[in-house]
Amino acid sequence: MKRPGDFEKTVLKSRGPLISGPAGDEGGCDLCGSRSFSLLHTWEVGDSWNPAAIPLTIWKCECGLVFLRPVPTRDQLPDQGEWWSTKRKRPRRNMWFKRIRTRMIRRTLGSTASRLVRDTHKVVPSGRYLDVGCGTGTLLTLASRFYQCVGLEPSPIAAAEALQKGFEVIESSFEEAPIEPQSFDMVLMDSVIEHVQSPLAFLKKVNHILRPGGVVVMKTPKFGGPAYRRHKSGWNGFRHGYHTFLYTGETLGRYLQQTGFEVLTRPRRDRLFDDILILWGRKVADVGAPLKLSRNAGLGRQAR
Ligand SMILES: [Zn+2]
Repeated sequence: MKRPGDFEKTVLKSRGPLISGPAGDEGGCDLCGSRSFSLLHTWEVGDSWNPAAIPLTIWKCECGLVFLRPVPTRDQLPDQGEWWSTKRKRPRRNMWFKRIRTRMIRRTLGSTASRLVRDTHKVVPSGRYLDVGCGTGTLLTLASRFYQCVGLEPSPIAAAEALQKGFEVIESSFEEAPIEPQSFDMVLMDSVIEHVQSPLAFLKKVNHILRPGGVVVMKTPKFGGPAYRRHKSGWNGFRHGYHTFLYTGETLGRYLQQTGFEVLTRPRRDRLFDDILILWGRKVADVGAPLKLSRNAGLGRQAR
């Protein structure tokens, strides 16, 4: 079994000129349509970073968008790809320094989650709030101080826990969830946009369910930040096999602009030393219903 460090040396040789790839008929870049991708990293089956039953490959489009292709199917991931599974590989790096730093920041400024909700509250003070990928309801608990909250969560394990806390929860993937158009003032996606099949289709649907002037906020690992530069193929932001797209402030901003949003300059988290990217976008145009909308009207499973 190769160690991640060994593997990087082999991969580096293939960097350089843009090559046409990956093979197959999966089409061009989700953001710009180009087919000129360069190979960034690859992990063979059995590599200590690769939990999947297929080789994993990360590509970078000439527009700067970074993505995993092919994406493993549920069957090719441990425990059917269940994110909340205990079988999912966890980062093994010694992160004591990071843990201490996080603890210090939390003491002085509050938790990352509470800061996110606080910043969001400054942009949209109240209204209907959808937490896409609400997990076990951590952010819902904080956001319910200001908003009428609804959570959406595809994992039955996490959704059950959020329901138990008394929240209204739609147990579904966002793509398949039947949600009324223009029914929310605020859509929050914490660690979601790096998991989706097509960010373009996803954000079109977000646009569709937001009221005019509504706001979306996305938090996602930042590609090219200090942690990536240091760890390269061993960067935790890849969540090898699970994260399908990785963004810079520029590529995510372009996505927002292409799907009817204006990117807010404040609040915004995209500084040189940030490893986590947070962008807010305000709906300025209606881009129409996305193709994959479900026909059933009304919301899904509800609490109580
Ligand atoms: Zn592109």
